[in-house]
Parts: sequence; C-alpha cells; structure tokens
Amino acid sequence: MTTLEALDVKPQSRLDAVLDLQRAAFLRDGAPGLDERRDDLKRLIAAIKENADAIATAISADFGSRSKHETIVADVWPVVAGARNTVKRLPGWMKPKSVGVGIELLPARGRILYQPLGVVGIISPWNYPFQLAIAPLVAALAAGNRVMLKPSELTPRTSEFLAGFLAKLFPEEKVATVLGGAEVGAAFSSLPFDHLFYTGSTEIGRRVMRAAADNLTPVTLELGGKSPCIIGADADLAAACRSIAFGKLLNAGQTCIAPDYALVPKPMLADFAAGLEAAIRALYPKLRDNPDYTSIINARHYARIWRLVDEARERGVRVVQINPASEQLVPEARKFAPTLVIEPPTDLTVMREEIFGPVLPILSYDTLDDAIAFVNARPRPLALYYFGAGTAGRDRVLARTTSGGAAVNETLLHVAAENLPFGGVGASGMGAYHGDAGFRTFSHAKSVFLQNRFNAASLLHPPYGRAADFMRKFLLGR
Ligand code: NAD
Repeated sequence: MTTLEALDVKPQSRLDAVLDLQRAAFLRDGAPGLDERRDDLKRLIAAIKENADAIATAISADFGSRSKHETIVADVWPVVAGARNTVKRLPGWMKPKSVGVGIELLPARGRILYQPLGVVGIISPWNYPFQLAIAPLVAALAAGNRVMLKPSELTPRTSEFLAGFLAKLFPEEKVATVLGGAEVGAAFSSLPFDHLFYTGSTEIGRRVMRAAADNLTPVTLELGGKSPCIIGADADLAAACRSIAFGKLLNAGQTCIAPDYALVPKPMLADFAAGLEAAIRALYPKLRDNPDYTSIINARHYARIWRLVDEARERGVRVVQINPASEQLVPEARKFAPTLVIEPPTDLTVMREEIFGPVLPILSYDTLDDAIAFVNARPRPLALYYFGAGTAGRDRVLARTTSGGAAVNETLLHVAAENLPFGGVGASGMGAYHGDAGFRTFSHAKSVFLQNRFNAASLLHPPYGRAADFMRKFLLGR
C-alpha cells in the first residue's frame, strides 16, 4: 500500500491517484499472458490456504461469533475451488474463438479475441466478507485486469486483513484495497472504471448503477431479495426440512441465497413446521455457546430482525422460536433463536423485505399454480428452491418462474457448482460470475474480421453497375 499511503491527499484524490496508477500500468504493460495470470492465481491459492485460520479468526471477531467451520466451507473453500478451476480452464477460455463469416464473405475469417477490460472496481459486502471480495477478484485477474477492491466497513478486521493480505501478494498497480464506509463507497462507485462489480443490497445497488451511469461504466450487480422455497405435494418432507434448515441457518440466515420463505401445500403445513423444528433442533441442540451457530453481524441488524418478529406477534400471527436448550440469549451476543412465522399476512415487513436472518415465514398454498403466481407477483428472486419427487411439478416451477438460479431438492449448493453461472435477474441483479461466466464478465469479446488477400469485396464498391446486379442476385437470390 506504499503509493496510496505516500499520497497525503483527500480520499477522492487518493482514489483517483490509484486508478491513474493502475490505468497507466495497464496501458504500459498491456494484457498479461497466460503464465502470469496462472502464477498470480496459484500464489493467491497458496496464500489463502496458509491463512485459512487467520481468515476464520478475523471473520469470527467481526461477527462476534462466526462458526470457523462455516468460514472454511462457505468463505474459503469456494474461492480456492473456483481459483483452481480457473487455473485449469483458463487456457481454453483465453483462446481466440474462430467463427464462420457466412458464405457471402468467404474466404475471410472471423475471430473473437478476449481482452481484459482494464481497471475494474469491486465493492463487496460483509456477510461472506472473504468469498465475496476474492471470488470476483479471481475472475477479474484471470481475465487480465487490474483491480481496486472496496470491502465492507461492517467487517473491519476482515477488511484490514484483506488489505494487508493482498498488498503482500500484488503490487498496488495490479491490486489495491480501499477501506472505508458508505461515503468512500459512493466516491469509489463514481470512479470511471472499465467495469464495476457490486455485491450488496438492492437499495445501494441502485445508487451504484446511477453513479456508474455518469461514466458509462458497465456494472455487474449481485443483489439480494426474497428467495422462495416451494414444497411440492410429493416432496420427501424430512429431507426437505433438513436442507431448508441448513440453508436458512448457515451464517444465521445472513446469506443472499438463503431460503427467505417457504410455500407449502395446505394439508402439509403442520407436518412441515414440525419437521423443520425437529431438523433445527438436530442441527443446533443449543445456541448460546454453540460455536456452530453464528451471531447477527451488529446491533442494528439484530434489532431489525426482532422488529420483524415482534410485528408478526403484534398482528396475532403464530410465531415459533426454537431454543432447544431453553437458554437465555443476551442481546450483546446477538444470537437470534431460529424462528418460524406461520401464515403471516403478506403486508407484514417479514413478507415485504429480505429477512437476512434466522426467521422463516411459512405460507400454505392450494395448487402449485397458486404458489407460482405468488412468486411471480413479487420481484424476481436471486434463488428459488423446489422440493418434489416427480419431474412434472419441478419442470412447471422451473419453466414458469424466473430467478437468478435454482436448486431442486437442495438449498444453496448451486452457488458452489463453479461451472454454473451465478447472478441475479431483475431486482436480484444483473450479470453473472463463477467459472467461464466470470471470465467473460471481466473480458471484452472483441470481434475481428480477417480479410483474405484474394476476395470479392470490390464487388460491393461503387460505381454500382453490372457487378452490383450480380451481387444483388447472389445476396438475395433474385
Ligand atoms: P450494502 O449494500 O449495505 O453494502 C455493500 C457494500 O456497498 C459495502 O462495501 C458498503 O460500504 C458499500 N456501500 C454502501 N453505501 C454505498 C454507496 N452509496 N455507494 C457505493 N457503495 C456503497 O450491503 P450489505 O448489507 O453489506 O449486504 C447485504 C445485502 O447484500 C443483502 O441484500 C444480500 O442479499 C446482498 N448480497 C448479495 C449477494 C449476491 O451474490 N447476489 C451476496 C451477498 C450479499
């Protein structure tokens, strides 16, 4: 971080200075070759593995308590797996693609070259503070870019760690970390990047896109929303409950693709709620001192989640809080007991806003088409989960709903399948990454037309006489 620190100037000028530094280096050196990119990624993988425990410690300190196992499984491993896959498949992704030019333009040839965009900005959130900063970085470096990263201020220890960790691995002219809160985020998103990749709430996503529009900077927006779970009438209820309990309570529900609410056939509602309660008790026999059960990130979010539950109670809705060992949970530790909200009216906040905590509303439906209509009456979600044994219900739900991604008879794991593009649609975002989708997001696919020495292009040129009549017959067949 030498250059950034050495420049004793105001934040905006510091940001400008780093961008200028990176842009000048990009123009000076051009696109890095395959060996350099792979070498960068391999060094990154080795450093992540070496620092896995330090990463888990920093994140846990930021959360108050964050399961170290969950950090390894959900923050560290996905990045290592994604980077390894990238190292392996990068030669194929980088290779120029030959395309036909059509019989009329023969013997010319067409080629698509994948070029780095230049300097890209990445803004990351707090909920998976390592994964959501480093996974886009991997894709951006694989595509040959230089990167400025702005991690979240809500996880200060992890963000500090990221700054130091990346500064040891890369010169600032290749990767620079900028620390700060909303104000710095706003200044950062107004920089004339060649691409801006934002992960966070839909609300801030709007502001980021507005700021980027002034520079015509293209954006990828990885946003949130209310991801539904639809239980089909033929679902294996016990298996569905296990998967939903896991997906909802990983990171205490602070997961962008966590099941937000469940839609259950009316006759199955009571069994589903009971099954879910049993599954939750089995996963988390106690909460207070259980290192497996993560805290809510801060007092503001803790209070926000309580308000969702309190409002439901005040409206007379049945609320089931699952505290298996009947422990006293103190607000300071911010462990929020898993909570089911049974059949809430849809005007409640818990049914209008993304929950982002361990609270699951359960609603009943009459027909599968009613459940589909319920989903379609709301903004397009980031994920959708369907549980059912047969293919008819599954195919109907997949065909009739639009979500960023979907998983069948499972929750969350589609995000871990590196070759499935990950991203939202509509209010849950735009653009995608992971695997080759990430490489393409951070590349410019340049179309190149290669003319042959012997060609008939002069037939297209004026003055238009008999040759033009011949061309007309050739092109249109008449
Ligand atoms: P957030 O939008 O509050 O903050 C995200 C980042 O934006 C932070 O680095 C923050 O400093 C920065 N920021 C704040 N104000 C800004 C501004 N005016 N301009 C530019 N940047 C600004 O989001 P959050 O609370 O950290 O994250 C939670 C949300 O993110 C949830 O909605 C969740 O669903 C979503 N999310 C989405 C994904 C995904 O992959 N689609 C992943 C994780 C989280």
